[in-house]
Amino acid sequence: MQKKRQGEIQLVSQMVELYCRGKHQRLYNKKLCHECQGLLDYARLRIEHCPFIESKTFCNTCKVHCYANQMRQKIKEVMRYSGPHMVFSHPFVCIRHAFSTLSQKQK
Ligand SMILES: [Zn+2]
Repeated sequence: MQKKRQGEIQLVSQMVELYCRGKHQRLYNKKLCHECQGLLDYARLRIEHCPFIESKTFCNTCKVHCYANQMRQKIKEVMRYSGPHMVFSHPFVCIRHAFSTLSQKQK
């Protein structure tokens, strides 16, 4: 359980970092910008408090939308940007699943 939480937090951190580096900061920078740091803090909090962590795949596909609407939009954008890079280094079923859900919605 705790391991899965840690894994998700790590995954989200890496995705937000990738996104921030690619979108917001042109130079390699170890620190996230203020906006992305806020998003990451929020996502981390949600993962830590999610009661469905055991059964669900990723918050994006979670039935209970614990992400506030604005944050959900942001995290979607991050996933859309970082996801294709992440699936290769992190072949989690959950990410692929989240992505198939996203692309279905776009059609
Ligand atoms: Zn940023």
